[in-house]
Amino acid sequence: MSLNKLPPSLLYINGQFVDALDGSTSEVLNPYSGQVLTTTALASERDVDLAVEAAKNAFPAWSALEAAERGKLLYRLADELEKRSAELAELETLNTGHPIRDTSKIDVPRSIDCFRYFAGIADKIEGSVVPVQRGFLNYVKRVPIGVVGQIAPWNFPLLFVSWKLGPALAAGNTVVYKPSELTPLTALKVAEVMNEVGFPPGVVNMVPGLGERAGQRIVDHPDVPKLSFTGSTRVGKSIAASAAANLKKVQLELGGKGANIVFEDADLDAAVQGAALAVFQNQGQACVAGSRLFLQESIADEFLSKLMKVARGIRLGNPMEQSCEMGPLTSKLHQSRVLEHIEVAKREGGHVLIGGRTPQEELLRAGFFIEPTIVEVQSGHTIAREEVFGPVLSVLRFSDESEAVRLANDSEYGLASGVWTNDLSRAHRVADLLNTGMCWVNCYKKVAPASPFGGMKASGYGREMGFEAVHSYTELKSTWINVSAAQSPFYQAN
Ligand code: NAD
Repeated sequence: MSLNKLPPSLLYINGQFVDALDGSTSEVLNPYSGQVLTTTALASERDVDLAVEAAKNAFPAWSALEAAERGKLLYRLADELEKRSAELAELETLNTGHPIRDTSKIDVPRSIDCFRYFAGIADKIEGSVVPVQRGFLNYVKRVPIGVVGQIAPWNFPLLFVSWKLGPALAAGNTVVYKPSELTPLTALKVAEVMNEVGFPPGVVNMVPGLGERAGQRIVDHPDVPKLSFTGSTRVGKSIAASAAANLKKVQLELGGKGANIVFEDADLDAAVQGAALAVFQNQGQACVAGSRLFLQESIADEFLSKLMKVARGIRLGNPMEQSCEMGPLTSKLHQSRVLEHIEVAKREGGHVLIGGRTPQEELLRAGFFIEPTIVEVQSGHTIAREEVFGPVLSVLRFSDESEAVRLANDSEYGLASGVWTNDLSRAHRVADLLNTGMCWVNCYKKVAPASPFGGMKASGYGREMGFEAVHSYTELKSTWINVSAAQSPFYQAN
C-alpha cells in the first residue's frame, strides 16, 4: 500500500462500490502529516434511501438463512480480516493517528475477536417456554427487527464496525452503517472483504456522509426501525428526540468523564501506569478515558511526581513507527477544541502541571499533536465536568472514601470508572457505589466481546457487546398453542 496516496473511497450500496448520486466528496486527511490521504464519497439523503431499500430487499433472505450459515459468513469475514491484519492496522493508523503499536496489537485483533464472538452466537439465540394455563403452550422466540441504522464516531472506526455489525448480523438483521466522514477507510475495507467472502448484496451498506444529511436521514427513515448510535451526548439527545417521533428503538453510547480513584493503600506504581493508560492512550480520544483522577491527599504529591515522570517519557511521533506511544489527534478542528478546553481551565484557576501546548519539535509541527497534559483542578471547573476527549488529565484530591465517591459521582456522565486499592472490601464497596456502566478495579479500559459495554446517565442507554447486544437487535415474539383436546365455548360456563 502506498502510504501517501490511497484510492478514493466510495459508498457501498447493494454490493456495489459507487459514487454519491450528487458526486459529493470530502478530503480524508492523514493527521500526522496534515496532507490529503484520499477522498471519500459523501452520501446524501438519496443515497441513504437507496441503501435502506437495498437492506430492506435483502432482509427476507438474510433473516431466513440458517443462523449457523450467518455465523459461518461472520467467521469467514474474521479469517479474511486476520490475513489482512497488517494492511488494516496501517490504514487505521494513517487515517486516525492511533499509534501502529495499538492498532496492530489492539484494534485489529480485538475487531477480529469480536466478529468471531458474534459468529459463534448466531445459532445460540434462544427463546423460552413460559409456564401458562394448563392446556396451552406458550413459547417466546427472538426474531430479527429488520433494517438497522448504525452511526459511528471517528475515534475507533474499525472496532466500532465489529461491535455494531457483529450482533446485528448474527441476529438476522440487515444494516445501513454510517462511519464518520473523517475516518471511513477501515469500515469501507471491511465492506470490501464482506463482499469478497460472500455476504449477499444489501445485507450491509455503508454510507459515509455528514451527520446532518446522511446521519439524519438514517434516523428519520421510516423503514429503519432500530438505531444504534455512538457519539456525543449532544447528537445522541437529538437522535433520541427524532426517534421518539417514529417510536424507533434506540441504543446510545455517548460521552464520558471517567473517574479514576486512587486510594492510599493502592499499589502506587501500578496505579500510575493505569492512570497514564486511562487518559493518554489514543491521545485521550476514548469515551471511557479516565480523564478525572482522584487522589487521596496522603499520597497525592508522591503519585503526581511519579505520574509526571511517566507523562514526560511518553514518546510522541509518527504513529506509523513502532516507537511512537502517542500520535496526533484525529482532526485539526478537534485539536483546537482541546486546546480551548485547556485555556478555559487556566482562566478558571486550574494549575497546569505538565503539557498544555502543541509540541515544539519541528517533526511534529504538521500533525495535530497536543502534549500529554495534567491539570490540577477543582470539581467546579469546566474541565473537570465537560468531556475533553484529548490527552488532558484533570486531577482532584480527596480525604476519605465517602468524599471520593461523592466527587466521582458528581458528573452528568456515567460511563466508566476505576478504583485502585488493595482493600478487597473497599474495592467491591466503592465499585458498587459508582454510578457508571463499567467499573475497573486495579486495572482500566478492559473490554471483551462477552462483557456488556455502555453507560448510565448522560452516557446513554442500551449496551454493546455480549448477549445483551444481540438481544437488543431482536424483538420478542410470543406464540400460544392450544394443546387441549376440549373446545373452549364462546362463554366459559360458570
Ligand atoms: P458526534 O456526535 O459529533 O458524531 C458521531 C456520529 O454521528 C458521526 O458519524 C456524525 O456524522 C453523526 N451525526 C452527527 N450529527 C448527526 C445527526 N443530526 N443525525 C445523525 N447522525 C449525526 O461525535 P464524534 O465527534 O464523531 O465522536 C466523539 C464523541 O463520541 C465523544 O463524545 C465520545 O465520548 C463519543 N463516543 C462514545 C463512545 C461510547 O461507547 N460511549 C465511544 C466512542 C465515542
